[in-house]
Parts: sequence; structure tokens; C-alpha cells
Amino acid sequence: MIKIDKKSVKYLKELTSLDAISGREDEVRNYLKKAYLKHDLVVEYDELGSIVAHKKEADESLPKVLVIGHMDEVGFIVKQILPNGLISVNVVGGITLSRLPSSRLILTTKNNKKYYGSVSALAPHLGGPNKDIKSSDLTFDFGFSSEKEAIKAGVSVNDMIVEEGNFKKIGKNRYLAKAFDNRYGCALGLDLLDALNEEKLNVNLYVGATVQEEVGCRGAITLSHMIKPDICIILDCSPANDYDGNKNSNGRLGDGVLIRYLDRGVIANKALLDLQIDTLNELKLPYQYFQSAGTTDGSKVQLAYDGVLLLSHCLCARNIHSPSSIIDGRDYEVARISLVNLIKKLDKEVILRLRKETVYGRD
Ligand SMILES: [Zn+2]
Repeated sequence: MIKIDKKSVKYLKELTSLDAISGREDEVRNYLKKAYLKHDLVVEYDELGSIVAHKKEADESLPKVLVIGHMDEVGFIVKQILPNGLISVNVVGGITLSRLPSSRLILTTKNNKKYYGSVSALAPHLGGPNKDIKSSDLTFDFGFSSEKEAIKAGVSVNDMIVEEGNFKKIGKNRYLAKAFDNRYGCALGLDLLDALNEEKLNVNLYVGATVQEEVGCRGAITLSHMIKPDICIILDCSPANDYDGNKNSNGRLGDGVLIRYLDRGVIANKALLDLQIDTLNELKLPYQYFQSAGTTDGSKVQLAYDGVLLLSHCLCARNIHSPSSIIDGRDYEVARISLVNLIKKLDKEVILRLRKETVYGRD
């Protein structure tokens, strides 16, 4: 029976408890750095703040495989502190504003002080809630009674705000938390190192995490140019759309890894996608075809230099980009086992075959 490992749950719990909007990935980056260093790896950064780890003694003759997930989550940046102590904000990433009123919040100051609060909501008695909400309509309430009080507490323009979404196990296999998009990818990178760091691989493995995916996959550009991988595998969390109970829905919880064949920015590399499918079939693990109107860091990585062989190894979650996203632990375990086995298969010959198939087609 497939079940998520306790260690994976611990990674997910710890990582989703950290706050990191685009450009403020410090908390997640520090967590990953500590975990990478435990494996005695070299840790490097690109100039935007993406992080990557690899073995100290690399065999230069072997191909480079880069496995990345993004660290950032959607959220807000303080725009203005109003005279009455309420706060107006800029929105960072894709958030459905109409679901925000009365949502709970965490503000992080420059000095890493945390304040808890709520999105202001007009009571039903006063004619709320509004149907169409613009970001300029929103005010955030952290309990300050004046601008002066907020400033004294260390709050300033440009501080980070996220929605609060504590980690909880719900049901037999499901987990509820904020930011599974994409602490899934950060956690799986750590599981991958736990599984493979002592193994003798036929590739140089680079495991890392990017910044600023939610605002245009910016860290993916800089990190892929820095590492120059032969293959890149993207770990990301995609939107489930199984609310209607239809067994053919696009992205179903508990039905395994996504075979992400098409999205707004990536037409999947067929040779690599077949390798992913073959691996899942050999292990008798579940998978599901998936297409998306969104995209991932893969859209940028594939375009680095003269192109990079790219695979997305994703799972889906309900309610992504909200503080109440839900994943199925079995999907995570399927993603973990199949990724470990897929990477063990990679060597010079396999990558040459994949490259030839990509460029010339199948013989
Ligand atoms: Zn994502």
C-alpha cells in the first residue's frame, strides 16, 4: 500500500510553516541550505537568490541533471500604512481577491517580527461582501490603532504579508496547508537527496530551488544559465480540478503523478515524458495526463542557451494559491519513488538517446 513517509510529512509541515513571497524567499532558502549542508554538499546561489546543492567532487565527464522547485508563494507587500493603522497592499502573484475578506494574515517586518491579522471585511449588516473586489478596495488589519503605532511596531512599506494556513492532516491520506505550491517541490528535493546522496549515480545531480516563480519564473532563468544542465526536472504543484467528482477531471487528488504534456509555456519533451511513463509503469505506480492553462519554471529553463531537455514531475493540489490547499500523501509518495528511480536510469547514453530523439525524432 502506498503511503507518504513520516519524514516527507515532516518536511512538508516545516516548509509550509515558513513565509516566503516572491523576492522574500529567505526563510525557505535558509531551511534548505541547512538541509543541503547536512548531506555535506556544496551550496551555491545565483544572483537573484535561487539556491542549488551538489557533490563536492563532480565528475566533469558526466552529464548534469538539475532538479528544482520554486520557493516562493503568492502574497502581498505593504503599500501604505493608513492614518487609522490599517494597511493597504500590493498583490504578488495570482490571488482570487473575492475570497480574501476576513482571511487571516501574517506580516513579517524587516527585523523578522511577525504580526497576525485579518483582511478587513464589510459586515453583511453594512452591505458586504463586495462581489468584485479590486486590490485597492482591500485593507489589512493587524490590530494597530494608528499609523504611528504600526511604525513603532516596526512595520514599514515593502514588508511581506502572507495568508495564515496551518498544516493539518485531514482524512486518511490528505493534508491541508498553505503553499503546497510549491513547498512540495522543495520537500521532494530533500527526499531525493536522502534517497540518492549515498548512491553512485551516472550523472552529476544538482538539487535546488528557485526564486520568483509566481511573478514570471525569474529565478529559473538565472539558475539554469548558471548550472547549464543537460536535463532539468521541474517539481511543482498544479491545480487539481476534480471538484465535480468526474473520473476524467483534469488533475485528480490521489490518482498519482501528473504527466504534464501541455501547458501555456511548455510542450513537453516527448522522449523524456515517455521515460517518465515507462518508469511509472515498471513500478506499477498511478499517473494521470494533465494539461494546464498556467505554466512552471520549465517554460524558462527549456529556453536557456540552445535549449534544455525538460521534464515536469508534478502533483496536483486543490485550492492552490490559497491558505487552504490540499494534497494527497499518496501522490507525494508516488512522485518520490518514481523520481528516485527515473534519476537512477539516467546516464550519458540515455541522455544522448533522449537528445537525438528530441532533435531528429524516433528512428
Ligand atoms: Zn508553483
